Amino acid sequence: MADQRLKQFVIVGGGSAGWMTAAALSSLLASQDVKITLIESEAIGTVGVGEATIPDMLNFNRILGIPEDVFMRETEATFKLGIEFVNWGRQGERYFHPFGPHGSDMNGIDFHQFWLANRQYGDPTALEDYSLCASAAKNGKFRHPDPNPKSVLSNLAYAYHFDATLYAAFLRKYAEANGVERIEGLVETVSQKAATGDIDSVTLQGGKQIAGDFFFDCSGFRSLLMQKTLDVSFVDWSHWLPCNSAQTVATAHKDGLPSFTRATAHSAGWQWRIPTQRRVGNGHVYASDFMSDEDARKILTDHLESEMLGDIRTLRFKTGCLDQFWQNNCVGIGLSSGFLEPLESTSLYLIQTGISKFISLFPSRNFSPTIAAEYNRQMRQEFDQVRDFLILHYVATERDDSEFWNYCRTMDVPDSLQHKIELFREGGRVFRYDDELFSKPSWIAVMVGQNILPERVDPIVDGLNPEQVSHSLQSMHRAIQSAAANMPRHEDMLKSYIGRAA
Ligand code: FAD
Repeated sequence: MADQRLKQFVIVGGGSAGWMTAAALSSLLASQDVKITLIESEAIGTVGVGEATIPDMLNFNRILGIPEDVFMRETEATFKLGIEFVNWGRQGERYFHPFGPHGSDMNGIDFHQFWLANRQYGDPTALEDYSLCASAAKNGKFRHPDPNPKSVLSNLAYAYHFDATLYAAFLRKYAEANGVERIEGLVETVSQKAATGDIDSVTLQGGKQIAGDFFFDCSGFRSLLMQKTLDVSFVDWSHWLPCNSAQTVATAHKDGLPSFTRATAHSAGWQWRIPTQRRVGNGHVYASDFMSDEDARKILTDHLESEMLGDIRTLRFKTGCLDQFWQNNCVGIGLSSGFLEPLESTSLYLIQTGISKFISLFPSRNFSPTIAAEYNRQMRQEFDQVRDFLILHYVATERDDSEFWNYCRTMDVPDSLQHKIELFREGGRVFRYDDELFSKPSWIAVMVGQNILPERVDPIVDGLNPEQVSHSLQSMHRAIQSAAANMPRHEDMLKSYIGRAA
């Protein structure tokens, strides 16, 4: 029987998406007789932003067998316990979206139902004060989770902030050591088989031709293979997520090393603050239909906490995703397949999940369309679910101080999101559908943080003895606050962990 295995993989693009794909494939296929080629063009360069991540990043490193301390040294990473949102629900308000849970569920009932009941009895303690991640972040602390599930410290969950350019360079070393061939050059033309439309080869400026059995489009916003060659259409979501521009700049550290990202809402967008070891990444994401570049730049610089290191860069993007992520013998990974603004740091996750879903549906030469259809279904679901979570931050606002917020506050949202909001408003119910990325604590943190409060408490909790509920919550609160207070400072922990001052 003829060998049906795919033997030549070609990755077009060497940003985070290209090198993450190359690293994962080369690790998976290390012992096999396959050739993996990555083509990138220094003349075009990479987006090079993308400094904040979510906890799934730990899995990616684990699968690649990359030790955490090595990764953190090489990418100038710091630890991240969640995101602080400032001025979102109302101006002057803030809340924390932690990675770990709030409190502990009791008798199979979600913790927040007890918190809501206790609040009704007059206890003003904020929901986030029952979160170990939020409490540690507030105090500038960090430690690794305790593997003992009985320990309160097992409730810690974390991700990283890092330098995206260093990350791509680090993965390049990893992938090249595993045999990936990197070719510097600009892809000028793409040839397809006349009968099927499958991609046959790409030709570089100067005439060099690179043939392949399977292609990965990691060419960034250009989407050279998926959109330009295979004519896959783009599903535009800018009416729900109108931000389409960003101005970014690094600054020096001020005092301390925060273990969280900050996202501060402005009049037509928001500004991130992401601390890595040697600098702080800043960016103002805004909607150009509502704000000029000059005004956006002034807002960015007015809100920087210390001196700029380098010049401000402007980036443009369109929010949405491809109609098909896998078409013919090509998969789009990274910005070539879609972009959802970085409010919840999900882009690198979407790359990672694109790669792992591909691996779980790994094709042979004569793969059936069923495989591609399943990949497309799963990827579209991921994008839809992240999209809904992002829209929540914009629609759940009482801000009426600008045209932008008036638009966001009153826009129609997808039915899937409307259903979630109504279910929570009615009785604080939240469900996680189809393995969605953001779990209950995330939805609850943002809904409560942006003043969507349930009209009634769960009737089972409502029927419990208020004193017992209060007592349980008080002891949980004490345990969490004391555990957070006893954790090491983030910078001290990092220094001893990576063996140098951050
Ligand atoms: P790119 O970095 O654009 O790389 C494209 C590659 O394709 C380059 O190597 C280029 O040389 C190559 N290429 C293109 N055309 C050709 C050609 N013709 N021939 C040869 N090579 C070619 N993600 C997060 O997870 N967290 C964040 O905090 C975050 N913040 C972001 C903020 C902003 C403003 C933006 C725009 C994105 C952010 N992202 C974030 C997303 C993240 O930056 C990207 O998802 C990630 O960098 C992957 O980019 P990429 O590799 O798909 O594309």
